[in-house]
Amino acid sequence: MKIALKIFSRDLRTHDNEALNAAAESGLPVLCVFSLDSMKIESSWLGIERWSGHKLRFLAESLDDLSEQLKSLGSRLVIMEKSISDFIESLPNSIELDSVYLHSETAWEELKEERQIEQAAKSKGAELRRFYGQSLYHPADLPFKAEGMPNVFTPFRKKIEKTVEIRECLEAPEKLEYMEDFNHFESVSIWDSYPEISGVEPRFVGGSQMAEERLRYYFWDTGKLGFYKKTRNQLLGDDYSSKFSPWLAWGCISPRRIYWEVKRFERDRIKNSSTYWLVFELIWRDFFRFHGAKASRSLFFKDGFQGNEHDGVINMRTFEMWSVGKTKNDFVDANMVELLDTGFMSNRGRQNVASYLVHDLKLDWRLGALWFEQRLIDYDVYSNYGNWQYVAGVGTDPRPDRYFNTNTQAERYDTAGKYRKYWLSGR
Ligand code: FAD
Repeated sequence: MKIALKIFSRDLRTHDNEALNAAAESGLPVLCVFSLDSMKIESSWLGIERWSGHKLRFLAESLDDLSEQLKSLGSRLVIMEKSISDFIESLPNSIELDSVYLHSETAWEELKEERQIEQAAKSKGAELRRFYGQSLYHPADLPFKAEGMPNVFTPFRKKIEKTVEIRECLEAPEKLEYMEDFNHFESVSIWDSYPEISGVEPRFVGGSQMAEERLRYYFWDTGKLGFYKKTRNQLLGDDYSSKFSPWLAWGCISPRRIYWEVKRFERDRIKNSSTYWLVFELIWRDFFRFHGAKASRSLFFKDGFQGNEHDGVINMRTFEMWSVGKTKNDFVDANMVELLDTGFMSNRGRQNVASYLVHDLKLDWRLGALWFEQRLIDYDVYSNYGNWQYVAGVGTDPRPDRYFNTNTQAERYDTAGKYRKYWLSGR
């Protein structure tokens, strides 16, 4: 029996999911899989783990939600420990693999894995079909290839904003073909493998339903989108900015879905600089994503994309004090404690703690990037490494010294000290 294989990775949704729609349109039974191996649950450089309880929990919730959605389409999600390429190679002869569908990534580790999948598919006589569904602008619509992409944000934005149309969202398939043989594939659960995450207090709950709820709340119930530009640099609470990033990072919602909802809000409620600014920020996200394709491995090099000499050092003692919020700089510490306790930190906070690590503590920026990779529930390889390089002056920023004076910033953005008090009292 011929089948289609749909690999889920950072596209944990059924709506606006081109790869899933294409698999459904093949008319074949669609086996939906997600591999924990591909998420690299392992230690990384300098022994800094890549996963924390908050991040794992958000993923577990998102997978639960996806499983439910697939069930409602008559299918099921198979979550496995092994890599997808091993899984393909181990498929029984009774199952004939026709095509493999996935959303392609451009970071080099992900690309390496994709090549392995392609090889395994080929060995089974199947074709790998790649789609690009994680950005606001479709890469095929851009007026340049990755190599010719502007290195600086403003020219990038200006080049695309006025000329490139954002594609419409796709409806979820009405149904997925399923076959009984799929029941033989065992599915594992993150909750069972990491029971300790049940005790982690979630600040934001993963999954596409929760993403839709957040969208409804932030736009329609509270109208907060209408003054986002005025509040976006605040620090305390959940509503000064959209908080879409965790759901975007895991693909529980597509940037196009947010964009078209902004357009509806502008039509039905109000159109102003705030509604524009949310789209502007989504273009930043695209910028880092497309830049990641151009930067390739240099996204992870100490001297960065620009190859500017970066003299930050590895000092694990200083790094540890920074990471747990014990630097004695109360503004930095409060932000680091928020990250430790919740898996989230504001953009203003991220810029400050990153600048502090690089320019005040004189540490290698990659230590900070790795810590964020472990802790952030919205960790995204392109936005994280791109922003860290930007602050360290080795990435896309034309200015070499993006220094934030944390004392001035604290006075400006936490004038009465409420934010610091909230996160540091009792510590
Ligand atoms: P909003 O202000 O509501 O913005 C809406 C959306 O626009 C965000 O959800 C995000 O998708 C996008 N966006 C906003 N600012 C940026 C930006 N500077 N770069 C890229 N996209 C942006 N963002 C991540 O999603 N994942 C990361 O791993 C990440 N690491 C970062 C590391 C550093 C050192 C810095 C300075 C920034 C990092 N950011 C990262 C960007 C930014 O801080 C977060 O996207 C933002 O704080 C998320 O909150 P929000 O959803 O409420 O944002």
